[in-house]
Formats: sequence, structure tokens, C-alpha cells
Amino acid sequence: MDKAVFFDRDGVLNREIGDYVCKPEDFEILPDAVETMKDAMDLGYKIFVITNQGGIGKRLYTKEILKQIHAILIEACNKQGVVITEIFYCPHHPVRSNCICRKPNSLMLEKALAKYNIDPALSWMIGDTGRDMEAAAAAGVRGYLINPNSLKHEFLKML
Ligand SMILES: [Mg+2]
Ligand SMILES: [Zn+2]
Repeated sequence: MDKAVFFDRDGVLNREIGDYVCKPEDFEILPDAVETMKDAMDLGYKIFVITNQGGIGKRLYTKEILKQIHAILIEACNKQGVVITEIFYCPHHPVRSNCICRKPNSLMLEKALAKYNIDPALSWMIGDTGRDMEAAAAAGVRGYLINPNSLKHEFLKML
């Protein structure tokens, strides 16, 4: 079985702006984000992004825009030789519809674990909110909570 680091997106990989990132111009990758993913890869972890994107459910932006935003992230990673295995996102928002994928639910994590044969006990979820940690716990993945916009790449080597 493989092991993985699951990264929340907003506030972990890109700057939390206190609102939905609705357009590519508002997507600012944090200084240590790509480095941290590189560390994870070097340590033998697969890389995933697990993100709530309820702004889609609220009709603030489309899946097409989200794809453009994620293309920025993927390109920045590729430049450094970092491969994101898959980005899982929940497009739902409770104002429109309830779902079982939105964190703190763990369905996105469980899908990744099953699809890629990942051992949850060897894996980590890095997030900046309690709901990231709840989702991790529900999936049997260890949680690592950081303050928003404070990722520091050295820490993975100490886990
Ligand atoms: Mg976040
Ligand atoms: Zn959902």
C-alpha cells in the first residue's frame, strides 16, 4: 500500500482571502506550498488536494473556472517536479444541497484511499480548520493542523 499527504487547499496551499477564490487572479500560491509538497514526495508520499468548493454550489464560480485555478497550481508544481496525484473537490454547499463529501465528511478522503490503495494509518491530512481534522479522523488519517497561511515546509521531515 502507498502513503499520502492530503492537503487542504485554501489557507494551506494558497492564501486564504477570507472569501471564496472566485477567479484565477485571486489564487495566490503560498511561498512554502510547492516546497512542502516536494518534501512529501521525497519522503515517498503521494500528494492529494482535498478541498471544499461550496462557491460552486452557490453559483459564485463554475467548475470551468475552478479547473483554470487548479491548472495554475498544477503548473507551479510541475515546474518543481511535483506531481499532484489528484485534486478532489466538493462543489456542494448546504444552502443548495446537502452532500456527504463536504468536509467535515470524509468521503473525498475515502475515495482517494480506495482509488489509489493508500494506507490511512501511514498518511496525513494537513489543514487549517477543525473540519479538515474531523474529516481526517473519520477516515483514519492523521491530522496536522496549521494556522491559515502559515505552511512551513520543514515540518514534514519531523513527522
Ligand atoms: Mg482551508
Ligand atoms: Zn459535496
